[in-house]
Amino acid sequence: MRFDNSYARLPERFTAAVLPTPVKAPQLIAFNRPLAEELGLDVEGMDDERLAAIFSGNAVPQGAEPLAMAYAGHQFGNFVPQLGDGRAILLGEVIDTKGRRRDIQLKGSGPTRFSRRGDGRAALGPVLREYIVSEAMFALGIPATRALAAVTTGERVQREIGLPGGVFTRVAASHIRVGTFQFFAAREDTEALKALSDHVIDRHYPEARQSETPYLAMLQAIAERQCDLICRWLMVGFIHGVMNTDNMAVSGETIDFGPCAFMDEYHPNKVFSSIDAQGRYAYNNQPGIAQWNIARLAECLIPLLDEDQDKAVDMANGVLADFAKAFPKRWLSGMRTKLGLQTEAEGDEQLVQDLLALMKRSEVDYTLTFRRLCDAASGNAEPFRGMFIDLTAADEWLERWKKRAAQESRSGEERADAMRAVNPAIIPRNHRIEEVIAAAVEDNDFAPFHEMIKATARPFEELPEFSVYMQAPMNHERVFRTFCGT
Ligand code: AMP
Ligand code: MG
Repeated sequence: MRFDNSYARLPERFTAAVLPTPVKAPQLIAFNRPLAEELGLDVEGMDDERLAAIFSGNAVPQGAEPLAMAYAGHQFGNFVPQLGDGRAILLGEVIDTKGRRRDIQLKGSGPTRFSRRGDGRAALGPVLREYIVSEAMFALGIPATRALAAVTTGERVQREIGLPGGVFTRVAASHIRVGTFQFFAAREDTEALKALSDHVIDRHYPEARQSETPYLAMLQAIAERQCDLICRWLMVGFIHGVMNTDNMAVSGETIDFGPCAFMDEYHPNKVFSSIDAQGRYAYNNQPGIAQWNIARLAECLIPLLDEDQDKAVDMANGVLADFAKAFPKRWLSGMRTKLGLQTEAEGDEQLVQDLLALMKRSEVDYTLTFRRLCDAASGNAEPFRGMFIDLTAADEWLERWKKRAAQESRSGEERADAMRAVNPAIIPRNHRIEEVIAAAVEDNDFAPFHEMIKATARPFEELPEFSVYMQAPMNHERVFRTFCGT
């Protein structure tokens, strides 16, 4: 790894230097070679044993400056002034083959100064879940941190029960979170806030430098990327599960895949996370929560926005108002694309809302409904119709949609192709993830994991060998709760 570390150059109070704690018997589960190539890593001639040593933290590569990052955060609305990397260690940054700066971080590699009472470790199940879901997000075209490697440690971690341990290596544009800003704001450390903002501008939003108000431009740009990201989540039925401010990356990548889930049957208020008792992070709440998190970031930046604090507050409010206005537009535009529409017309929103209302009433599978609508575009409406309880209502809706689509010049086949490029056939379904984890944890069998990685890498195709990954869960397979496993 040719490291080019920049975060380690920031003032001392940003980070805590720490070495990974070696594990007993690391074994490689997976190594993402295409990603390694993209990162420009030199792994020629390295066997699995060597890779396992590196990606467990047992062998620290030359040029790494391992550290834990300081951050704070609102957890379920409650402010915690110090969180930080309690079980993650940043090895360093590399410039990838496309010239982009990328973080390489180990997760589950032992305690740091920020571990509080935690053991600094990760259980194998959550490691596999994060690997699968983050790579699936990438394949779906949704900004997300990437999975570079996964290893087993040969040690057990104590959760409610004893479980096999793992270490996950992830790659991110950066690991800077809304909570990183909150850490310094809580300490009224304006100097650090400025240094952090300058770092974020250089790294993620260089165009903000051209603005007369660069910090406002940065805030605006962060808000816009979140708007886009959350919209993409909603389009594929993704529920993050823990949208605490420390789990929102200012780069605009999806980060910290804990109790996340893709919904099967559609319900706007769907919640999976076992710790989200109030449904704060329910499917449909995600845009509002993103805006709430941006508001917390805006508060941190008030001292930097303008010397006149009233003016600074107005500027921040402007960004929030823009987000509130932009989101519904962005959402409708995404939904139009899912319905195969290229133009805007009066009544589109009603058309979408009426479909969602039908879907909710029939508790249909979110992913399959849109995929079967692609078939309807190419003339085969039966599979779509067959999903609904109320056939008359489904037929009425189909007629309206056909009429609306006929206002555009695309042929049915062209429309179907365009729809199949945005409506996935394969998502990482919860029940399949559970099967993968059970086989690995109970039988030390990683074949289902590798098979699922192959299937979810091609979400927009309907290959017969992957048909099992397209199916909605049968009643006895349904997953109702997901766990963060921390
Ligand atoms: P999360 O819910 O995974 O986003 O983590 C929230 C906070 O708890 C972060 O500061 C983590 O570093 C910390 N944390 C979670 N699990 C552990 C663990 N096993 N050991 C130490 N710290 C942890
Ligand atoms: Mg987190």
